[in-house]
Amino acid sequence: MDNGKIQFVDLVAQYQQIKPEVDAAMAKVCSRGDFILGEDVKLFEQEFAAFCKVPHCVAVANGTEALKLALLACGVGPGDEVITCTHTFIATAFAIHQAGAKPVLVDCNPQTYTIDTAQVERAITPRTKAIIPVHLYGQPADMDPILAVARKHKLYVIEDACQAHGAEYKGRRCGSMGDIAAFSFYPGKNLGAYGDGGAVTTTRADLAERVSLLRNHGQKVKYEHIVKGFNSRLDTLQAVVLRIKLRHLEQWNEARRRAAAKYDRLLAGTRLVTPKVAPYAKPVFHLYVVQVPDRKKQQAAFDAANISHGIHYPIPVHLQPAFAELGYKLGSFPVTEALVSKIISLPMFPELTDSQIERVVGACLKA
Ligand SMILES: *Cc1c(COP(=O)(O)O)cnc(C)c1O
Repeated sequence: MDNGKIQFVDLVAQYQQIKPEVDAAMAKVCSRGDFILGEDVKLFEQEFAAFCKVPHCVAVANGTEALKLALLACGVGPGDEVITCTHTFIATAFAIHQAGAKPVLVDCNPQTYTIDTAQVERAITPRTKAIIPVHLYGQPADMDPILAVARKHKLYVIEDACQAHGAEYKGRRCGSMGDIAAFSFYPGKNLGAYGDGGAVTTTRADLAERVSLLRNHGQKVKYEHIVKGFNSRLDTLQAVVLRIKLRHLEQWNEARRRAAAKYDRLLAGTRLVTPKVAPYAKPVFHLYVVQVPDRKKQQAAFDAANISHGIHYPIPVHLQPAFAELGYKLGSFPVTEALVSKIISLPMFPELTDSQIERVVGACLKA
């Protein structure tokens, strides 16, 4: 039996498929020398906007910066509150803090693991300025109730689409539904650069314009600084990689859905809880997360079988030492707290083979 290592995400397998194209395109940038905001950055922005079915995309340094600049473009700042889900990657909350505002957390839905929309309205105060739904694991958050509450209370909706490139909600692309959205191109994401990268997408020309000022020292014309900005640009070399990979993304997302369907089939009727896909959702399975009865035993079984795994995420935002000042405690968000002790992320990437999936499932059933 093959006992070779099964990676959690196999970035090298993917590079092998596109190596000649990537190598040639990178060499071209080097001989052209337009490393900062070069031609490929603009082309990538146009192509990624089309992919997300929005008129505007502004490429930035990473996903956290995309969230921060989106918040700042919406005018979020000191004294404001921004509502998001405690079950997310910490960067969602860090971006709110970096914009000068206070994260206000709510629990997640026990079925979909995305923000519990019923709790959002109760968390609104006179200081609330925006809501950040997170399309966690590549599953779209239930956007309609969120958009309705936001409209009623005149709040911005900023989508954290950092795990949801190409995912759809009722036929609409993640990144096209709120006022503005943030994407990450961290290498392990469904669309990943060969370093850090990010982007905002938006239907609003005014917000796109503000982000493009903020990412480049607040200037439109060199050395004329209209607002106080940042250095938060996507490198041209990363744009080149992203342009090539974007052409494969639909097919890679489809391969992830196929792998997820095979996991679903093989794990049906076992003690593992597989991901629920809401009727409104077309997910992209950035992660395939199951609940297991005994995580320590499961981890040992994976280690013995030479299979990598992840936990996304073991400590929710409200219990992170970095956010102690928010005053939450154990018991604040029981759904998330129960969930994070049971979840484990199985290997998931487009090149995952049937026999690898069977080996992972074999190890699942051994625990
Ligand atoms: C990856 C990620 C981010 C941050 O993106 P970076 O590019 O790593 O800064 C933010 N939110 C979520 C949900 C993410 O998965």
